Amino acid sequence: MTDPTTPPDPGERPLWTSDHQRIACREHLPAPGTDAWWANRWHVMSIDEQEGFAGAAGYWPACEACAALADLHPAGEGAERADDDPQRARAIAEIARSMGIETLEAAGRDRLDFHDLHVTAIRDALLAAYRAGQAAAKGGAR
Ligand SMILES: [Zn+2]
Repeated sequence: MTDPTTPPDPGERPLWTSDHQRIACREHLPAPGTDAWWANRWHVMSIDEQEGFAGAAGYWPACEACAALADLHPAGEGAERADDDPQRARAIAEIARSMGIETLEAAGRDRLDFHDLHVTAIRDALLAAYRAGQAAAKGGAR
């Protein structure tokens, strides 16, 4: 859990906030330049804004999507990452490469971490993932 007495290090894990008081990490931020990005005027949450939030809310701001996911998948039991299973990690990496994405690790640079993809590339990748899941299920449930 977040230590309520220590402000988060913005360099370590920057947060963005919007005109609608939404809070997101880099991973869960609407892609910069999209309608969702412009409409809500997302911007990096300054230390002053974070302190203002903490003063009003009584806890430090955190990404809403990360918090929701943490509730869905508590660490430990049932928690899994894409690279827990080498076979699955290879399949996912292969699909990503078919989309022109060399790595799924965040580099911390928007230029490297955000991708413009044609809808047909997304469709093909989702289809490939669906089929890989079907094939894995036929091979025996784990
Ligand atoms: Zn997040």
